Amino acid sequence: MNLLEVENLKVSYGGIQALKGISLNIAQGELVTLIGSNGAGKTTTLKTLAGLLQPAAGKLHYREQPLLHVPAHRRVEHGIALVPEGRGIFARLTVEENLLMGAYARNDKTETAVDLESQYALFPRLAERRTQLAGTLSGGEQQMVAMARALMSRPTLLMLDEPSMGLAPLMVAKIFETILGISAQGVTILLVEQNAKLALEAAQRGYVLESGAITLSGTASELLGSDAVQRAYLGA
Ligand code: ATP
Repeated sequence: MNLLEVENLKVSYGGIQALKGISLNIAQGELVTLIGSNGAGKTTTLKTLAGLLQPAAGKLHYREQPLLHVPAHRRVEHGIALVPEGRGIFARLTVEENLLMGAYARNDKTETAVDLESQYALFPRLAERRTQLAGTLSGGEQQMVAMARALMSRPTLLMLDEPSMGLAPLMVAKIFETILGISAQGVTILLVEQNAKLALEAAQRGYVLESGAITLSGTASELLGSDAVQRAYLGA
């Protein structure tokens, strides 16, 4: 079953059409990547799926139900979580307070405490720093906070916007290892990345977005082997 179906989605900023009618789908449990260069419309796609931008046209179905009329905060309750570009952490709150913000839509204190501990098990580095102000963490640690906070909403679909951005290679490897771990637990993932090689090595399928349109799609190995992808995104 498709968890998410996107059909002919169009999004504009004033007069600028950022998405020119894109269609894509994601099956339950898949790890799908959306790659493309700067300004292709990747962030716009994720924001629209999260309900932060209203499309001008198109259809959006989640678990076979229409989603467009559902506001952003209700989409979180439906299991759709976004880890935004630039992380969006609360710099003046502690690590733990940031994580608890991710559970705001939930009313189950005991379960929330259990989930907090599972985040600390997944990200031991955050456990050591639970009382530290998030603004004083390194970039990689802030990315971990953003991911752990999103996981606190117990998402079915986790959307990650450029998780590797600005991170040192070792930290990038660690973040990708964690993404694979989250995927292995059964969470469906939509991963936006500029680092096409890493993204395609992690994902099962991918879409290539260029100037607001999907120009290619296929399994990750098909895309890795494609001349067009190699020339444009893999520096061949
Ligand atoms: P990047 O990797 O650089 O973030 P992207 O693929 O995520 O790129 P988007 O941020 O979705 O691209 O932007 C798509 C297009 O929409 C770009 O041409 C961008 O300039 C434009 N755009 C994005 N946000 C706005 C905005 N708030 N107002 C006007 N235009 C915008």
